[in-house]
Formats: sequence, structure tokens, C-alpha cells
Amino acid sequence: MRKQRDHDQDIPPGAAEAGARVFVCATCGIALTEPLTRLPAVPDAPFYAWWDADEPGPSPATVPTGCYAIETEPYGPPLVVTDTPGPVMPRQGEHRNAEGEPLVSQGPRGNIVINPEDARGLELRHAVAACCGASPDGGMNQLCACGMLVATLSSDCCLPYELHLAADRVRAIRP
Ligand SMILES: [Zn+2]
Ligand SMILES: [Zn+2]
Repeated sequence: MRKQRDHDQDIPPGAAEAGARVFVCATCGIALTEPLTRLPAVPDAPFYAWWDADEPGPSPATVPTGCYAIETEPYGPPLVVTDTPGPVMPRQGEHRNAEGEPLVSQGPRGNIVINPEDARGLELRHAVAACCGASPDGGMNQLCACGMLVATLSSDCCLPYELHLAADRVRAIRP
């Protein structure tokens, strides 16, 4: 049990890590984000009727600007056949392979999910084809200036709009 303190009620969930963080490349140390404050969980993706949109483009962002959250579910490839159809990865719909079998992500857990507008100095290198944005299905698609793949952008019209920093490719520092 944690000791009660007078100001406990003022401390948000995740208090142990309270305070803004800047995420930097683990390889070269360059800052990859604005200072960000942790949310207790990844929010639900806002509903967006991309099929009704006049112009294709990203949906509203899952994570508000200035914030980050830790993804606790597997994300990205490998996508493997499952007996229980459902979202292929968090906040997405079903995916099926050519044989019609439902797929689910067995990718890494612990991604740091941010608003793509808060990313700095990342260059998109498409890993798989997408219609108007970027898809996470092929894995990491965001290059640091040092040439290291460090993150995955999801920005196609039918996907949640979010950027996932790979937990083992970045470090958190105090701004
Ligand atoms: Zn780097
Ligand atoms: Zn699209």
C-alpha cells in the first residue's frame, strides 16, 4: 500500500511518472517529440465517417496534442490467424487474409502513442501500400534523421490517426 498524502487527490493517475517528457531517439539522442504529458490510457479513437468525407485524409487524432499514452495491446506485424474474429489491432476493424481467415496482431506491446502533430523530424518511409496515408500493417515507417526506424504512423483515411513510438527505439527525458 502506498502512503496517503494530503495532496494525493491532486495527482493524476500514473502519478509515478507525472511531469512532461520529451521522447528522444535511443540511437542518436535527437528529440522526436514536443514535451508530452502522460494519459492514464490510450483514448478511444474519435468516430470519423471517412467514407462520407469530401476529401480523403487522416481522421481526428486519437491522442490530444501535448499528450502521450502507453499501448498495452500488441500492435503491428506479425499479423497471425486467430479463431476469434475481432479488431486486428487496437482501435481498428477486422482484417482477413486471402483465405478469409481473421487476423490479429502479435506485434510488440508498450508502444508510446502520440498525436502525429507532436512528432518532430521524422520522415515517412512507407512499409506497405495505403490509399491516401500510411498504414501500420507493414511495421515501422518513420525514420529518424540518423536513419533508424523509430516509429509507426497510422494516417490512412480508414484508420485511427496516431503515431506509435517503438518502446525499444526511444528514451524519455525531462524537458
Ligand atoms: Zn536517431
Ligand atoms: Zn485513404
